[in-house]
Amino acid sequence: MSDDLYDVIIVGGGPVGLAQALALSRFQQGLRVALLDRRPFTVPDDKRAFALAAGVKRVLETLGVWSAIGAEAEPIRAMKITDSGQGDLSRPVFLTFEGDVAPGEPYAHMVANRVLTRVLLEAVGSRVELIAPIDITGYTAGAASASLSLKDGRTLKAPLIIAADGAMSALRNMAGIGVVQHDYRQSGVVTTIAHELPHEGTAYEHFRPAGPFASLPLPGNRSSLVWTESTEEAARLKALPPDQAAAEIEAAMGSSLGRVTVEEGIQAFPLRLQLAREFTGPRLALIGDAAHVVHPLAGQGLNLGLKDVAALAETVVDAMRLGLDHGSADVLERYQRWRSLDTALMAAVTDNLNRLFSNDLAPVRAVRDIGLGLVDRLAPIKSALITRAAGLEANGPRLTRGLPL
Ligand SMILES: Cc1cc2nc3c(=O)[nH]c(=O)nc-3n(C[C@H](O)[C@H](O)[C@H](O)COP(=O)(O)OP(=O)(O)OC[C@H]3O[C@@H](n4cnc5c(N)ncnc54)[C@H](O)[C@@H]3O)c2cc1C
Repeated sequence: MSDDLYDVIIVGGGPVGLAQALALSRFQQGLRVALLDRRPFTVPDDKRAFALAAGVKRVLETLGVWSAIGAEAEPIRAMKITDSGQGDLSRPVFLTFEGDVAPGEPYAHMVANRVLTRVLLEAVGSRVELIAPIDITGYTAGAASASLSLKDGRTLKAPLIIAADGAMSALRNMAGIGVVQHDYRQSGVVTTIAHELPHEGTAYEHFRPAGPFASLPLPGNRSSLVWTESTEEAARLKALPPDQAAAEIEAAMGSSLGRVTVEEGIQAFPLRLQLAREFTGPRLALIGDAAHVVHPLAGQGLNLGLKDVAALAETVVDAMRLGLDHGSADVLERYQRWRSLDTALMAAVTDNLNRLFSNDLAPVRAVRDIGLGLVDRLAPIKSALITRAAGLEANGPRLTRGLPL
């Protein structure tokens, strides 16, 4: 048995863990970082594409990976939000957004998870020590460092351990950090379609009684679909032959993009709201889905995770420059304060939107449509909402403002 000493150990090599490893290794010369995953470091078979907000694009630009990602991304140039009842044929548009958040800077870009993960993996390359596939069996925190036991008998040590191991985070459980949770008993159904008519960079979100149905533009005449269904309905959809799935999708979309073909199979992800009670523990910081899981209706989960990356990287690098212990409770408190409010706000917004729109009661529909119509006409409110969703708050981490650490 041997002990290996690092400056930072990151558990979980999803997009958030990879971005964290890149941010730390790029901005702090000579930093010894280990990145662990229970699966081999390969590009996953994941059909999701993410709407990456403008602030997060700036993070990826500053990390030097945006040019490769952007070459395979599609800007969202407009958004149209409609409210549809059961069986409605026409879908009045209640909320629209056109244009860029700053001249030449679109609100968000659509990026396939496979592209994002591939580019991040290539960029991380030999900068950090990749250890996979490996399971962790224990975590303890001491006065100067924390220890992580691995299933192969090794013990790794570092002043700071970062949990990026997703919604079911083993590290969060080992640290005894609880969660506040609500199971939506819904699934996020995902597929990619090719379509007859061009999308012209428009993202559509139809709020239907079963839940939102979003069509998000990809390069070419292709779109990524994400829609919410009950768990049973999602299982039915996953089993449909492609032609039948395409017919159901056309009906649900109200033919705005003409005839569609399902390009790949259909995947379904169980949906939940989940917030860790603390974002830090002894010599431990939680990032990404390990810290928070939100409903995908506003496309914010990964954006929140990449904002965690920017905030934690800044906290750690600033502490190191001042000669402070970067895993101490005082240093980690800054990260916790920075990220918990933004996350709680986004969790509340997505949860309330889902509750407000996932029903077909006439009075509720009337109130929400008046609300959407008002937001659409009140330019300052609309602009404040868009600035937050785009991750461009004035007090955001330096990386989200396009500045180096
Ligand atoms: C249908 C759907 C659509 C979405 N659309 C969007 C969107 O448009 N925009 C957006 O911002 N977000 C979106 N999200 C949210 C987004 O998918 C997640 O927030 C994001 O994938 C979280 O990344 P992560 O790296 O934190 O976690 P994960 O991607 O879950 O990665 C966790 C990693 O940890 C590893 N791991 C797990 N356990 C262990 C262990 N014990 N030891 C070692 N390694 C471990 C796993 O193998 C994995 O590699 C969507 C989510 C869903 C379900």
